[in-house]
Amino acid sequence: MKRYAIVGASAAGLSCAKTLRALDADCKIDLFTDEAYLPYSRPIISYYLKNKVNAQQIYLQDAAFYEANDITVHLNEPVTEVREHALQTQRGKRYGFDKLLLATGSVPFVPPMENVGGQENVFTFLTMSEAERLKAYAEPDMHAVVLGAGLIGLKAAEGLRSCVKSVTVVELAGKVLPSILDDRAAPMVEAHLQANGIVTLLGDTVVRAEGKEKITSVTLKSGKTLPCDLLVVAVGVRPNTALAESCGADVNRGITVDHETMETTVPDVFAAGDCVRSLDILDGKEKIIALWPNAVREGKTAAYNMAGVPEKDTGSFAVNAIDFFGQRICTCGLINDDSAQVLVRADATQYKRLLVKDNHLVGFVLINCSARAGIYTELIRQKTDLTALSGDLLKEPGLMLYARDVRTEKLTGGVRI
Ligand SMILES: Cc1cc2nc3c(=O)[nH]c(=O)nc-3n(C[C@H](O)[C@H](O)[C@H](O)COP(=O)(O)OP(=O)(O)OC[C@H]3O[C@@H](n4cnc5c(N)ncnc54)[C@H](O)[C@@H]3O)c2cc1C
Repeated sequence: MKRYAIVGASAAGLSCAKTLRALDADCKIDLFTDEAYLPYSRPIISYYLKNKVNAQQIYLQDAAFYEANDITVHLNEPVTEVREHALQTQRGKRYGFDKLLLATGSVPFVPPMENVGGQENVFTFLTMSEAERLKAYAEPDMHAVVLGAGLIGLKAAEGLRSCVKSVTVVELAGKVLPSILDDRAAPMVEAHLQANGIVTLLGDTVVRAEGKEKITSVTLKSGKTLPCDLLVVAVGVRPNTALAESCGADVNRGITVDHETMETTVPDVFAAGDCVRSLDILDGKEKIIALWPNAVREGKTAAYNMAGVPEKDTGSFAVNAIDFFGQRICTCGLINDDSAQVLVRADATQYKRLLVKDNHLVGFVLINCSARAGIYTELIRQKTDLTALSGDLLKEPGLMLYARDVRTEKLTGGVRI
C-alpha cells in the first residue's frame, strides 16, 4: 500500500488528497495541519466576520467526507521536520511516507513599525483563528485601521465595516488593489468603498503606534494621527518555505518545482499552492501566484505525478473574481502591461478594459460587467489568435464556446455562441 503525506490542509492539500483517493482506492493518506479546523474556504473568512456565513458553512467538506474517503486529517499537528521519507511532528510523532506534498501556503508579512509588535489589538487576516479573534475583539464603538488595500486588506475592511464604528484603510501605493487594477478602474473601486463607509488614505503608511499593551492611535508617514482600537496588518504575504528549506529543497523566495510535475528538487517531495514559485504562462516569468484556483490545480497535478500517472500541469496565470459591497470585480492576466494595446468601454458604473498583444488577449479588468469573464479567460488560457474570430471583442465577441474535460483540462469541442 502506497503512503502519502500532505503538509497543509487547504486548497492545494485537499485537492491533492481528493485526487489521490480518486486514483488509488487503497492508499494511505495523511493530511497535516497546524490549524484547529478542517479545510475551510480562506477567501470567505470576511463573510464569517460579518456573519454572512456561520462557522459550519465555511468548511470545504464536512467531517463525514474524510471518514468516507479514508483521509486522516491531523489537526493542530505542525510538521517540524522532514528527513529520509519520514516526517516529524511537534507532538514528537513520526510518520513514514512514499511521497510527500508540501502545501504550506503563505505567512503574513508584517513591516517594521514602532511600538506595534506584541500589542494585543494587532491582527493579521489570513486564518480562521484570526477572524475568530477579530470577531471576539471588535466592538461597535471602535475605530479600526487596516494597513494595506490589497485583496486581503479590503476583505478585512469589508468584514469589519458592520462590526465597528469606523474603518480606515491606509495604503502606500497611490491606488487601491494596486497589483490587479489599472489607474482608471482603481478610483471606481475606491469611490464604491467610500460610498459604503470605508475611509481610504492612499500614498501613506503607518510608522508608529501609541499605547501600552493596547494600541490607542497610529501615526502615519505623513504625520497624520488616527484613533485606532484595532489594527489589521495586511500588506502582503510571503511563501511559507521553512519546511522545504529544512529538507534541503531549493527555495528562491518560493519553493522551486518542476512546473510540469510539481516535484521539488528533493526526489519524492512535491509542492503546490502559495508556497511555490509558479510559471506564469502569459509572460513566461516565475512568480508567486497566491490565488485559490492556482493552488487547487497545482495540488491536483502533484497528486497525479505522486501516484505515478504522468500529467503535465497546464500552467498558471492570475485570475481574480471578487466582490466588495456588491461591486463585482474580475481581473485576469497581465493588467498593467505597457506594451499591450488597450481596448476600453466604460460608463459611470461599468468598466471593461481588455489588453491585446500580438493579436492575443493577454489580460482584462471588468467592473460590474462580468458576463463574458469566462470566455475572455478561455481566450487568454488557450492563447487564441484573435484574427480568427469575428465580432467586436468588447461587445459581442462572436466566439466559440468550448467544453473542458475536467481531467485532462483539454478542450473537447466547440459551438459558436
Ligand atoms: C482573507 C483572504 C481572502 C482571499 N481571497 C481570495 C479570493 O477572493 N480569490 C482567490 O483566488 N484567492 C483568495 N485568497 C488567497 C487564497 O486563499 C490562497 O491562494 C489559498 O488559500 C492558497 O492555498 P494553499 O493550499 O496554497 O495554502 P493555504 O491556504 O495558505 O494553506 C496552507 C496551510 O498549511 C498550514 N501549514 C503551514 N506549515 C505547516 C506545517 N509545518 N505543519 C502543518 N501545517 C502547516 C497552514 O497553517 C495552512 O493551514 C484569499 C486569502 C485570504 C487570506
